[in-house]
Amino acid sequence: MAENHNHQELQHTAGSGWAKYCPRCGHPLVERYIEVEQHVRKICSSCGFIFYLNPKVVAGAVPRQGDRIWLVRRNIEPSIGCWTFPGGYVDLGERVTEAAIRETYEETKLQIRLDGLLNIYSYAKAGIIVAVYRATVTGGVAGPTPESLEVSAFELRDIPWKSLAFPSTREALSDYVQYEASATEGPH
Ligand SMILES: [Zn+2]
Repeated sequence: MAENHNHQELQHTAGSGWAKYCPRCGHPLVERYIEVEQHVRKICSSCGFIFYLNPKVVAGAVPRQGDRIWLVRRNIEPSIGCWTFPGGYVDLGERVTEAAIRETYEETKLQIRLDGLLNIYSYAKAGIIVAVYRATVTGGVAGPTPESLEVSAFELRDIPWKSLAFPSTREALSDYVQYEASATEGPH
C-alpha cells in the first residue's frame, strides 16, 4: 500500500488541471465561482458534486536511538537516492500519529514511540502538509525495505545535509538539531 502513495510530495502539486471528471458519477467537472465561498471550485456538470482540492497530509518521524537518528535513503522517485527521515501519506481513517509510526516501521523495520510534535511544514506549491514527530526507537532491527535503499543511523553532526530529499527534510532536521541543542543546554 505504502509504495503507491508515499512521498509523492512533488507530484501532488497545488494545480487542479488534473481533475477533469467527477469522482462520483464520471461526468466532466467545470470551474465555477461559488459566491458564499468567494472561490472558484471544480463542480460536476451533472450531479453538482463540489470537488474540493486540499493539500495532502504527510506524517513523518525522526527516530532517535542513543545519540543517533535513523534516516532512510529513498528507493523511489522523487529524490531517489537521497536521505530523509521516514514518512508518508496519512490514510483516510488513520490518525496522523499512527501514520508516523506505521510509515517508520514500513521504511526502517523499527518500532518507535512518539515523544512530541517537532513541527508542521507546509508548502503552497507542493500541495502538502508535513507533520513531523520526535521519536524514540523502542524495538525492531533496522534494515532496507522496498522503499529504502539503505537505513542508517547518523549522529547529528553527520547528517548528510547535501543529499537530503526535500525542503521539508532540511527544515525539519534543522529544527530537530536546534531542539536537541536547547534541550541539552536547558535546565531539566
Ligand atoms: Zn458528478
